[in-house]
Amino acid sequence: MNTIEEFKKIKKFRTWSWISIYLIPATFFLINSKFKFIGYLLMLLLIFAGVYFSLKYKCPACNTRLDTRVFLSKLIYCPKCSVQLQEKDNY
Ligand SMILES: [Zn+2]
Repeated sequence: MNTIEEFKKIKKFRTWSWISIYLIPATFFLINSKFKFIGYLLMLLLIFAGVYFSLKYKCPACNTRLDTRVFLSKLIYCPKCSVQLQEKDNY
């Protein structure tokens, strides 16, 4: 399988990592309510998920971890091994 096809699956981990991190403030509402314990548990789970997904977000060719903060539109080639990750005309 080529790296562009593989990266199509891998870039979903970037999205999931962001979703997990963005949901963390929502747990503050639970922590401030009577569901304090569930709130802390959920927050821990989201932090874990955010880290886990960002660890899975890596170059399919050289396994270098990619920065989840870099916009997908800016990530055409791997910064380490320069393999092509995305088509240029996708955006
Ligand atoms: Zn690479």
